[in-house]
Amino acid sequence: MQAAFFRQHGGPEVMETGSVPEPVPQPGEALVRIRAAALNRVDKWVRDGWPGLKLPLPHIPGSDGAGEVLSGGGQFQPGQRVVINSSLSCGVCEFCVAGQDNLCERWALLGETVPGANAELLALPERQLLALPDNVSFEQAAAAALVFQTAWHSLITRGQLRAGETVLIVGAGGGVNSAAIQVAGLAGAKVFVVGSDARKLALAAELGAEVLIDRSQADWGRQVFQLTNRRGVDVVVDNVGAPTLMTSLRAARKGGRILTVGNTGGPRFELDNRYLFAKHLSLIGSTMSTRAEFAAVMGLVFTGRLRPVIDSTFALAEVRAAHARLESGEVLGKIVLAL
Ligand SMILES: [Zn+2]
Repeated sequence: MQAAFFRQHGGPEVMETGSVPEPVPQPGEALVRIRAAALNRVDKWVRDGWPGLKLPLPHIPGSDGAGEVLSGGGQFQPGQRVVINSSLSCGVCEFCVAGQDNLCERWALLGETVPGANAELLALPERQLLALPDNVSFEQAAAAALVFQTAWHSLITRGQLRAGETVLIVGAGGGVNSAAIQVAGLAGAKVFVVGSDARKLALAAELGAEVLIDRSQADWGRQVFQLTNRRGVDVVVDNVGAPTLMTSLRAARKGGRILTVGNTGGPRFELDNRYLFAKHLSLIGSTMSTRAEFAAVMGLVFTGRLRPVIDSTFALAEVRAAHARLESGEVLGKIVLAL
């Protein structure tokens, strides 16, 4: 089968496509013919590598995918269209039994430490598949799966977002933030977005953001303070980290919540604890979602109430160009590979 993979860690230039052995499904696993796969930040991090990462090479990346069941689907007939939930869990540990499968003791992300969806064929447990209605394209489904479950679990479950609250989303243009803007809007919150340029802010407005702040033009922490009558916002979504976190703490109201599901600005940050305790702030982390939440949020995608934003689509053979685009800083939404 054809797949995209890398034999050594490095920049976009290490990505290649070629023929690799087909996966052999284990008992309980379905074999899926992948038709579309979407790129995520994690694809860059895995490709770059990090100290201590010992990945069997060559490695096929890819967390997001959608396609058709070929065999072994149990409840799914051959030919059934499906979208993949890339949050891999064991199904039997304390957390899985409690329905908190994204806390699984043996949790893994498809494509990160196990071979992923940038391949024509993928074998994975049936419970990782969700039936995909005919009105949703493979590209849309692949583009939605990781980012919408991530935004949903962070805002709705962990963040306990309520109608009427104010939410500040730090960053626009990326997949998770595009999803977070829509999830917050659907929950009845008033959405503020801080973005780095007019194009990204225009997209945020299109997705339902009401207050747009161009951080190239203004001190955004001060702007938020003024726009909320010196109160601050109820919730801040900060998936950047080091460069923005202190301003996020300032932008939150007393008793506010800071949500994070990632760190595009680097893994470490310093914070001034005086803000945290004196303002009664909660700093709330999460990653991915439970299977039940995945089904719920994808249901909203299937009915069109949430909309994945697709930046561009590349053929599998163009994977190197797709990775170069992922790193360009120009991306509006998701980059998709068509297989
Ligand atoms: Zn488990």
